[in-house]
Parts: sequence; structure tokens; C-alpha cells
Amino acid sequence: MTSHGADFYDAGALVAVLTTQPLDRLLDYRAPEGGCHPGAFVEVPLGSRKVPGVVWGPGRGDFDLSKVRAVIRVLDVAPMREEMQEFLRRAADYTLTPMPAMLRLATRAPGLGDPPSMRKIYRRGEGQPDRATKARSRVLQTLEDYGGLAFTMRELAEAADVSTSVVKGLVAQGVVREEDTPRDRPYPHLDPARVPRVLTAEQEEAAQTLRAAVRTGVYGTTLLRGVTGSGKTEVYLEAVAEVLRQGRQALVLLPEIALTAEFLTRIEARFGARPAEWHSGVTMTERRRAWKMVGQGGAQVVVGARSALFLPFRDLGLIVVDEEHDSSYKQEDGVLYNARDMAVLRASLCSARVVLASATPSLESWANAEAGKYDKLELAARFGDAVLPEIRAVDMRGVKLTADRWISPTLQRAVEARIAAGEQALLFLNRRGYAPVTLCRACGHQIGCDHCDARMVEHRFQARLVCHQCGETRPIPTHCPSCEAEGRLAAVGPGVERLGEEAAATFPDARIETLSSDLFGSARALKDRIRQIADGGADIIIGTQLVAKGHNFPFLTLVGVIDADLGLQGSDLRAAERTFQLMRQVAGRAGRAERRGVAMLQTFQPEHPVIRAILSGDEDGFWRAEAEERRHAGMPPYGRMAGIILSSPDMQSVFDMGNRLARQDGPIQRAGAQVFGPAPAPIARIRGRHRVRLLVRAPRSAPLQAAVSEWVAQFNLPPQLRLSVDIDPQSFF
Ligand code: ADP
Ligand code: ZN
Repeated sequence: MTSHGADFYDAGALVAVLTTQPLDRLLDYRAPEGGCHPGAFVEVPLGSRKVPGVVWGPGRGDFDLSKVRAVIRVLDVAPMREEMQEFLRRAADYTLTPMPAMLRLATRAPGLGDPPSMRKIYRRGEGQPDRATKARSRVLQTLEDYGGLAFTMRELAEAADVSTSVVKGLVAQGVVREEDTPRDRPYPHLDPARVPRVLTAEQEEAAQTLRAAVRTGVYGTTLLRGVTGSGKTEVYLEAVAEVLRQGRQALVLLPEIALTAEFLTRIEARFGARPAEWHSGVTMTERRRAWKMVGQGGAQVVVGARSALFLPFRDLGLIVVDEEHDSSYKQEDGVLYNARDMAVLRASLCSARVVLASATPSLESWANAEAGKYDKLELAARFGDAVLPEIRAVDMRGVKLTADRWISPTLQRAVEARIAAGEQALLFLNRRGYAPVTLCRACGHQIGCDHCDARMVEHRFQARLVCHQCGETRPIPTHCPSCEAEGRLAAVGPGVERLGEEAAATFPDARIETLSSDLFGSARALKDRIRQIADGGADIIIGTQLVAKGHNFPFLTLVGVIDADLGLQGSDLRAAERTFQLMRQVAGRAGRAERRGVAMLQTFQPEHPVIRAILSGDEDGFWRAEAEERRHAGMPPYGRMAGIILSSPDMQSVFDMGNRLARQDGPIQRAGAQVFGPAPAPIARIRGRHRVRLLVRAPRSAPLQAAVSEWVAQFNLPPQLRLSVDIDPQSFF
């Protein structure tokens, strides 16, 4: 039985359907021939179109019954479960998102309604080829290497490094066998009984606690905190094993696609096969397979990005949010949600366990654990002999460098010593591109974006200027766009590309590799490169925050942070928190294996409380101080906030609307909340739209969502003006 009271709708019964179309209500239809289940995915007529939808409940009958049309067909996928419907409703209420947009999130796979399609796969057949060529034997060797596994034509040709005609030739002789198989086939079985690693006493204790928590089969959240390399992954994989033993499903969220390759290998080592993947790098066919199999129980574990939370799990028993503090869990486009919070919501509705893993938890999670809302598990030691790196400051105030140099002599000597010892050094700078500013030496003009209030960043590798806000690019000009002087444009300040240049000049004999997401054509190319570097394929790694996220570089023993002060300035409430986390993580890259690492922070503010907390390693001290400041200011997590962003091509109209909103005395004030602004948003113009921001701050117990939606609903927006509400804003763009 469902809460709707019906567990089946007979043909002709009146049902209410939620569609993905932007309508503010459910539509009545008649159940099709053969009837349908509540939650059934259907196709319905809307005007002259066919649109997808879900049977949400009994029809309301408030529409001319003679005009009610019939559902066209029921799609051949598992109906949406009641708990998923509830999740979408609650998430919509929390984020103030219309239901159709939530349903779109929950159906992000192409061709869900298509009949099962087949594709050809290839395995080893019988006998030997009539003529043995090198290419042919590579194909056979590949099939043997992967013992019995089937390949698609492309996979096989690529793995064997031959053209497809070679494979086709072998198929014609029966040496390679061609078979038809459904595209949407179940994922290989993951076996929790395979022998795990021997855990340390501390890891084992944490694993025991998590296993027991999973076995209870009720909702709960555990914050698993431990320094990088302490074995958090090993420990939560044991929770995954337990959930598999229970016959339930697990979801592991990772913040960064580039991390999945390494993680999939670990799952395979632990459970004997690869899980389903769900992120932007997965093909459409594979997405559809994952979506369907998750719903049918043909996928036991999903590894994915935040949107995997909206997959139709049949029996989700565990959600792991790895690197839970990572800001990429906050979706900043479209539906504004924080995957960490939505994971907790989803788990509470399906009696699942949540594990939030991090070396540097968000202040929100830290506070929830302190308050006893979350359980807390700590791994204090690094695995094996690895110890936390020694962290030192390089006080840049006394260092004289020429204008195109950023590596201090102290750091330079340290790097040289490491390379001489056959180890690796990382130079970290959280800035993509070559130079953040292009300045005209004749007139002082700085080249900005035509559409945004942002400077164009030089990307020398691509030979273009790029706006990091809107993506606008143009060739690097030879004349100043303002005074037309020729040859007077100068790059000012460093980006990773320029740092790479400096490093090449400073360390002429070193093998230097620059890792920045925009220097690689594809996620795969980046992954491959990272693997080569981890194997010792470079002496110096130059990187942006990409490298701060969990990659394992066993030879890395020195991290030099070029500008530790970046991120300390700025109006962002979380600037201190972010800098702290980033520095700790980057520092955590050094000495993960047997070698003790050193991290050197170049800073002009060695006395800054954040820098001091990083240097002294007094993590709890940092959190307590930061928590105290937020509590004092009534800021999250001790108060609640919502951001309202108004945008329009017409500057006057955004400010007018902002002022009208701010002046209106009503629901916000009744809820005990305050409105700040309007103010130009930190990025005051994006893609030609002027942006104005209001912030609402409310006490923790205030009905923030209700007040905000009542408040903004009172206004009619002029054409072209967009209003979006961001509950719990992460950054205040
Ligand atoms: P974290 O997730 O906390 O960064 P990992 O689980 O990735 O830590 O562990 C760091 C490294 O140490 C990995 O290479 C992992 O395989 C290894 N490791 C951790 N615990 C053990 C163990 N008990 N036995 C063998 N290797 C381990
Ligand atoms: Zn721009």
C-alpha cells in the first residue's frame, strides 16, 4: 500500500501526473489500458506534444471530465517509489524549486522509454587465425589478458591497438565471436566476501562501528574524520561491504570526476568488479543503463557525482559523501542544492546510513557532530609510517623577487634538495591560466570582459584571453584596446602556466608537469597523466586545486604553496574555512607513503589567525574560533541564510526591484529575519546581465523557506528580470 491509498489504478481511473514541463500543478489523465501503478513512468499528451511524467497519485477531478485524456503508455521501467516521491517533494520545499524541475533531475537519462536495445559484443571464439599477423595476435592476447571478458568493437580495437577491420577479419573466421547482448544489462556482481585488507586496530574499530550502524537498518549520519592517508576509504569500503551483505545498495559520491578512476580500481580490488558510474563523463548509453539497473537492483554500488542522489535506487542502504567539505557538492546552476544535505535527507527517508568523510570537515558538519546530531569517528594516525608533513611558513615580506618571479630562494633550495633525492615536489597555485591581469604599460588599461565585471585571464597555452566568469574568449591582442599602443601589453601576476615557465627556468634539468583542468582535452587524458605522474613521471608538479583533491602521489614529499594568502581576502563567509581546508589538503599530499613530507607556505601574513592555525596544526582550535565568530554573527550553521539574486540586462530595473524587495515589510520580518542589500553581487555582471544580491539572515528556528517564498511571491517581475533563491548559499556570487 502507498500513502495514496491505492496500489493500482485500473484502466480509465483518474490519475494525477507530474510532468517535466514547467507547469505549477499536476494534470489529470485516465489510466491507460492495462492500468498502472502509482509512481509509474508514463508518456502523456499535452497539447499536441507527448511529454514524460510520473503518476503521482489519484486524479483530482477538478477538470472537465469529458476532456480528460488518457495516458499514452507506461514506460518499461520500475515505477518511482513512494520514498523517492517524498524525497523530491521535500527537496523541492527545502530549495524552493518547482516540482517539474525536481523530476527533470530525477530523469536525467536519455531514452528511458525506448524498448531494450541490443548491441554487439566480442569474445574469444574457436581456433587460430589462418594467418598470424602481429595485429591479430595482439587482439587474441588482449582477449586472453582480460580472461573471458566481452568487449565492444571499439573497446577491443582500442585495447589491442588495431583497426576494427583486423577484428572483423577474425570474426569472419570465428576466432573472435560476435554476440548480441542487451545494452541495459546488469552490472557484474560485487562480492563483499572477498578478503579485505588487514586493517589497523584503529581502522578496524571504526569499521566495526560503521558495520554495526549499517546493520541496524535505520537512518543515521556518521562524520568520519581523519587526516589524508589515514584509511578513511578503507574504512568506509567496509561499510559498503556490510550493506552488500544486507542485499542493499550503496552510493559513493566523489567531488571530482578525475578521482573516479583511482576509486573504481579500489572497488574492483575489494569487491572483484567495477560498480556503476554516474557523472558527466559517462556516455548516454551508459547513463541509461545505470539509471535502469539502479531501479531494478542490477547495480549494487554507484560511484558518482552529486546528481547520482536522484537515481531511482531500489533499496539504498548507504550513502558515502567523500571529501564532504568540498564546495563542488553545492550545485550553483539550475536547482541550487547541496548534495551533502540532500544525502542526509534522502537517507533519512529510506533508512540508510550516511558517512561523511573528510580530513577537514565543513563547519556545518563539525557543528552537527559536536551537537550530537551526527556520530563521530576519528582516525588519528596515518596508515603505515606516513606522518603528517611538517608545515612551515616562508615569510615573503623580507624576500626580494623580480616582478616575474614567485618562487622564493628558500622554496627553490628545498625543491632542489628533493629532486636530488629522487623525490617529487608540488608547487601549488590556485589560479588557472598564465596571468590574471593584462595591463597596458602605455595607458594603464586592464583588459576586461565585455560582458562581465571581470578581468580577462591570459591563457598562453591556448593563445587566448579567457573570462573565467562567462567563458568568453578572444585572441591575445597586439594593440591596447583602449589607447591602441602597440606592443605595450604586459602580463601581470602568476597563473599556473606562468609558474610552469618560471619553474622551467629555475630548474632547467627537472621534468615539470603542469596540471590544470583546462590543459587537458578530456577527463581521460587528465586521469592518464595523473597516473603517470604518480608513478614517478615528473619531478615537479605545478597544479591548481585539482591536485588538492585526494590523488595519491607516493613520491611527493614537498609541497610549496606559492600564495597562501589567496582566498584569505574577499567578502566570503567561508574564505577562512576554505583556505584552511585547502592548505591542509595540499599539505596532505606530501609524504603519503613512507617519506616524511614538508609543506612550505609562502605568505605575506604569517600572523593571520588562519595561517597560524595551519602552521600549528591546531585544527580544533581553528574550528572553535571560527565557530565562535559565526555564532556571534548569527551566521550559518548558527543562523540560517538565503541569497536572492536578481539579474537583468537592464541595471536600473534590477536595482529598483531589489529596493522594492528590501523595503517591503512583511513575511520576512514576521519570521524574525533580516534583509541585507540590495548590493551589486560580487560578480556584478555575467553574460551581459546585471546582478544584484540580497541576503536574508534568520534565526535557526525561523521558517525561512516559507517566509522567503511568501515574500518574493508578492512581486510581479518585469520582463527579462530573473529572480533566484539560494538557500544556504555557499558563495555569495
Ligand atoms: P584516506 O581515504 O583517509 O585518504 P586511504 O584509505 O586512501 O586514506 O588510505 C591511504 C593509503 O594507504 C591507500 O593507498 C591505502 O590503500 C593504504 N592503506 C590504508 N589502510 C591500509 C591498510 N590497513 N592496509 C594496507 N593499506 C592501507
Ligand atoms: Zn565575461
